[in-house]
Amino acid sequence: MQTPETYQESTFRDRPTTFSKEGKRLWLFPKMPKGKLYTIRRIIALTLLTFFYAAPFLRFRGEPLIFLNFLERKFILFGNTFYPQDFYLLVLAVIALIVFIVLFTVVYGRVFCGWVCPQTVFLEFLYRPIEYLIDGNSEQQQKLAVQEMDFIKALKRILKHGIYLVISFFTILTFISYVTGTVELGKMTDGWPFKESGLLMGVLIFTGIHYFVFAWFREQVCTMVCPYGRLQGVMLDVNTILVAYDYKRGEPRGKGERGIKGDCINCYNCVDVCPTGIDIRNGTQLECINCTACIDACNSVMKKVRKPSGLIRFASEKSISEGKKVKFNARVIAYSLVLVVLLSLITYLFTVRGAVETIIIRSQGTMYQEYGNDHYSNLYNLQTINKTNSEVKLELKLISPEGEIILLGDSIQAKKGEVAERNLLIVLKKETVKTSNCPLEIGIFENGKLIDQIKSTFIGPNSLDREATGRK
Ligand code: SF4
Ligand code: SF4
Repeated sequence: MQTPETYQESTFRDRPTTFSKEGKRLWLFPKMPKGKLYTIRRIIALTLLTFFYAAPFLRFRGEPLIFLNFLERKFILFGNTFYPQDFYLLVLAVIALIVFIVLFTVVYGRVFCGWVCPQTVFLEFLYRPIEYLIDGNSEQQQKLAVQEMDFIKALKRILKHGIYLVISFFTILTFISYVTGTVELGKMTDGWPFKESGLLMGVLIFTGIHYFVFAWFREQVCTMVCPYGRLQGVMLDVNTILVAYDYKRGEPRGKGERGIKGDCINCYNCVDVCPTGIDIRNGTQLECINCTACIDACNSVMKKVRKPSGLIRFASEKSISEGKKVKFNARVIAYSLVLVVLLSLITYLFTVRGAVETIIIRSQGTMYQEYGNDHYSNLYNLQTINKTNSEVKLELKLISPEGEIILLGDSIQAKKGEVAERNLLIVLKKETVKTSNCPLEIGIFENGKLIDQIKSTFIGPNSLDREATGRK
């Protein structure tokens, strides 16, 4: 850990770890991590990757599991169709997500980056393992990088980059199928080259970008481009739980007698596995994506030298400086509760969202009408949005006050995704209309089951009209 004195001498903050003094790119050859945390990360990453590539082919209630048609503004999530009318839910979800990310980062650091961010998942669990498979481990990769080009090296380079390009190509097609659906994409890509040259061009351009990011640009996305990484400085504080080196226990580092030296044997294993090339012993750094590879590496070293694990661990700066265990203090508990409430709220809003949405408003500019001798009527416009995956047939009943609903035109039927519009009359007995603005409650029924209740008003004669007609 840096003290004010050593900090002045340090060079680690002078430039990014992937840049030489002259400003040239320094290629990283991180060792493949091994350990409990890496195993858990791999399970999570492989689950996410499988889901990503399989989801466009999966169906739920006859619909794609996930369908994000931004062009037609139609979205399907787990069998639920969302239309522009549900835009407020999207806005709420985005606001809640931003608050969630900020609070989560304040309490638990940048765990998202190292565990579920697509950049890390693709790089560390798809592209990097292919590199280990073809080019060998970290040392072999370094040797290969500096050796003269020969047949074997050329073969390895062609094989690796060929596989990278194929993966990038199918990854871009997968992304597109989330927008178009697999059936439509199948039609668009029928024949070779694709039927539509514009599509082919787009796919090739994005394949090139994807390949460039994962074959060459790599960790620089996290250390130099990603805005979330840049925000760490304002979101973290001494109580934030993150991957941290216990300098109290580890320093002074070096191989030496117990009691004279600290527990860190200065083996650099934690640096060798770091995908962003930093030394976590220098303290919390912007480049740390909390991937926990250094925790696994150091724990295995501690096991070999028969010292307790956890020299690098999830801890807050405060807990390390005070030599105490991380405690779930009031702030952590309060923020965690807010996170749970936010998640519950979003889930609730999505689940209570009406699958059939009906709007009934009185026709603009119309007044009450005499209907026969004993009744008044008002004209209304009805709009029904069917967000279900099947046709709906609705009936209307006046819940209060007593009266009649007369539908003008066909019965209310709306096919999947359709909007049905009708006009209707509400007819009330004159003695029921006691004020000029009489409250109404209309029940919406589907197959005899009440699915919605709508409040509206009924215009009646005002007091002057009543006096003129002698009606009370
Ligand atoms: S792996 Fe552990 S012991 Fe080795 S240098 Fe890193 S902190 Fe020190
Ligand atoms: S310092 Fe550790 S947790 Fe941070 S990026 Fe490097 S290996 Fe991952």
